[in-house]
Amino acid sequence: MARIAIAGFLHETNTFVDRHTDMDAFVTADAWPGLVLGPNLLEEVAGANIAIAGFIKEAATYGHKMLPLLWTSANPSGPVTQHAYEKIWSMLARELKQAMPVDALFLDLHGAMVAEHIEDGEGELLERIRAIIGPGVPIVAALDFHANISPRMVALTDALTVYRTYPHVDMSDTGRRAAIVLQRILAGERLHKAYRQIPFLIPMLWQCTLIEPLASLMHLVEQLERDGNVSAAIVPGFPLADIYDCGPTVLAYGTDVAATEAVAQRLFDAMLAQRTAFSGQIYSPAQAVSHALASSGDRPIILVDTQDNPGGGAAGDTTDILHELVRQRVPDACVGLLCDPAAAAAAHAAGIGATVELALGAHSGIGAAPLVGRYTVEALGDGQFTGTGPFYLGCRMNLGPMARLRLDGIQILVASHKQQAADQAMFRHLDIDPMRQRILVLKSSVHFRADFSQLAREILIVAASGENVADLTQLRYQKLRPGVACPVQDTCI
Ligand SMILES: [Zn+2]
Repeated sequence: MARIAIAGFLHETNTFVDRHTDMDAFVTADAWPGLVLGPNLLEEVAGANIAIAGFIKEAATYGHKMLPLLWTSANPSGPVTQHAYEKIWSMLARELKQAMPVDALFLDLHGAMVAEHIEDGEGELLERIRAIIGPGVPIVAALDFHANISPRMVALTDALTVYRTYPHVDMSDTGRRAAIVLQRILAGERLHKAYRQIPFLIPMLWQCTLIEPLASLMHLVEQLERDGNVSAAIVPGFPLADIYDCGPTVLAYGTDVAATEAVAQRLFDAMLAQRTAFSGQIYSPAQAVSHALASSGDRPIILVDTQDNPGGGAAGDTTDILHELVRQRVPDACVGLLCDPAAAAAAHAAGIGATVELALGAHSGIGAAPLVGRYTVEALGDGQFTGTGPFYLGCRMNLGPMARLRLDGIQILVASHKQQAADQAMFRHLDIDPMRQRILVLKSSVHFRADFSQLAREILIVAASGENVADLTQLRYQKLRPGVACPVQDTCI
């Protein structure tokens, strides 16, 4: 039996976003638990599709003792404030020192955290942890598919396991795989680390593993892993980060140095061969709405408001597509989720059936103006419900007061905390059956596919205003390492 300290500190930082991520964002629960310390951690994360839950479950089967330190995450946004990073670090360090001596450490990290004063949030964290536990104690971490893995992160850990799906339906499973790798290390295996950085960036939209080329690439990872007795990964990275180590990577861990390096090289070559395949069609709001109006069928057509996806750090409150629905007099559409706490509060004060005059959305100042109108309050909710789709499965949502507002035939689901629309439970919470909508507008990029693909007649990617920029050539990168290129521009029809 080993004494394993476990902790989580997760943030995906969009460095092109001005709104910095403060302590409140880490303390407050959203789709995931808020900041939790000590033994309560075990109960808070149990049953959720998150890596630490999968790690705890698997490690328990080996009879190890879990020493829960701290777990916290915040919704993607701008850089983590220096205050929040240092405060969380001081709590984590205190818990770790109290738990010593430990035989191993498991970390649930995102891998794309940038703080105001630290570019490589996880690399710095690992260095500080190493200073406490020393070089000999194994550290294994689970990372997001969108991790920008630096050489420092690889050097300071014994192994990294990474989600294999986008939508991330295997977060818990990635924790389980981390426990298996750690078990090999605790059993005395010495794992060689093979690591390569890919010299181009991949837009979020085309990192989806349900479509090519990543569907086939991820099959290759599993095949090479089986054939070579290695733990391997393709990691597409988080492109909305102007940092030196931004971009995709490949990893392999195994006991045979040459075989492990060969697996990493094979994955590296396979990625390079697909360089121009990471692209697809994008519609303007006007084109998407007129296409949806002209099309008919039983099931909904989904307009993907990808650039305002809170999951990529965006505000989740832009109104470009809403304005277009009004302009083209769409008789029947449902939009979710729009973050507007003031509108939700006004709806709750007025009550179901009342009408309220609102300037809805766009309080971030991004894109089109707020949509001014007289809205009918159709339904109210407290924002507390459990995710039922494969991505948010078992997650206890905490989205603050919610309301369903109607403007003519357009229904808008309003939340008080931003969260990407990736679970049908968000709609059912406000008495909407997504299947029965003619047009569904979702503020998400890819995660919505896990729960909505099967009910969609057609899915259109729409480039409306927002900070989760789809066309990376529009961004002004200044810190990428030499040789890293943006991909070819997407096809805009
Ligand atoms: Zn991710």
